[in-house]
Amino acid sequence: MTDTPASSTGQMAIETILTHEGRSPEDQFGFVNTPVYRGSTVLFKTLSDLEDQTQRFLYGRAGNPTTESVEAVITRLEGAHATKLVPSGLAAITIALLACLKSGDDLLISDSAYEPGRVFADGFLTRMGITTRYFDPRIGAGIAELMLPNTRAVLAESPGSLTFEVQDIPALAAAAKANGARLIVDNSWASPLYHQPLKLGADIVVHAATKMFVGHSDVLAGTVSATEEAWADVASTRTLLGFFTSGDDAYLVARGLRTLSIRMEAHQQRALDIARWLEAQDEVAEVIHPALPSHPDHALWKRDFTGSGSLFAFVLKPAPRASVAAFVDQMQIFSMGYSWGGYESLCLPVKPGKARSAKPWSHEGNLFRIHVGLEDVDDLKRDLADGLERYARSR
Ligand SMILES: *Cc1c(COP(=O)(O)O)cnc(C)c1O
Repeated sequence: MTDTPASSTGQMAIETILTHEGRSPEDQFGFVNTPVYRGSTVLFKTLSDLEDQTQRFLYGRAGNPTTESVEAVITRLEGAHATKLVPSGLAAITIALLACLKSGDDLLISDSAYEPGRVFADGFLTRMGITTRYFDPRIGAGIAELMLPNTRAVLAESPGSLTFEVQDIPALAAAAKANGARLIVDNSWASPLYHQPLKLGADIVVHAATKMFVGHSDVLAGTVSATEEAWADVASTRTLLGFFTSGDDAYLVARGLRTLSIRMEAHQQRALDIARWLEAQDEVAEVIHPALPSHPDHALWKRDFTGSGSLFAFVLKPAPRASVAAFVDQMQIFSMGYSWGGYESLCLPVKPGKARSAKPWSHEGNLFRIHVGLEDVDDLKRDLADGLERYARSR
């Protein structure tokens, strides 16, 4: 099976793609994994080789067998034309945006999108003469009314990784297409296992590979995948900017991907178990998880997703900062930190209201984002229950 070329593996299930795509033991003396390739210089044997430029690899910056081993897997999973591994999730977003936009263009970004992407648009893109406007994540087909003649890109993140609004990707894609704009979707939450935006009409899909793909909190990486139509712009933008991901980092992304399906399944189950449990707790005002029937976008999630991720949010009843500190400071298992996707659980107080401009975040109470890791679920619940008791006592 491992010797089968990609072209003849059309009908493979996701689990089989994850374990077999992107490696060729016959090229590696029979060793299962594509090893870490480190290298800048690639040698040419003859003058003809140098002049023809037809070797598979010409120079290290363009990539090497280790980076390609990751790209092949994501291309298959997303149903993309091609994929590039890039240094971070944020780099994936900035490359995708720069691939679609030039001076004088207009950009629409979901109000729920990853904040550093907004900062890039408001700062860097503004300096380049590109305008950015924000839209209500639940706008759906109504985005057509926001389109200007020069709107050339729409950036969506579904669901938003702090507030978890699910976006109507087919509707956004149709409106973008009608206006000659491209739709970029950040698919980090669901991974391509549970959501495939290109099949719903998107043009470019980005991932913070740092999160679920890597799965162990030890590497930063991103991927950009695109349709055939959008690919040339993505590839040339990455090349011109000089972004490269090392073989060492690529190796760890590839290694993470091999176990992605069983990890996603475990994270999904545990997150849902804890989300349902939280819904029944006194101090909890709201649990925000698209796979729960109580979520306002549950129907949309059911239509467009086949599973859910490790990450969701909940709101605790209004209380002062000291109560938030009492909740998080003495946790035994949950830790506080940015990022997510590792084996370890995280619980982070967040304030989405600061960044939003199109659709204010108006929930009363304190919002927390939770990444459910691979610890025992009962231990995790006990940790949360103790925290909720401290929260209630100090409120
Ligand atoms: C973390 C994250 C990013 C950025 O990824 P980095 O690798 O940290 O740059 C982008 N989008 C989402 C949804 C994220 O959670």
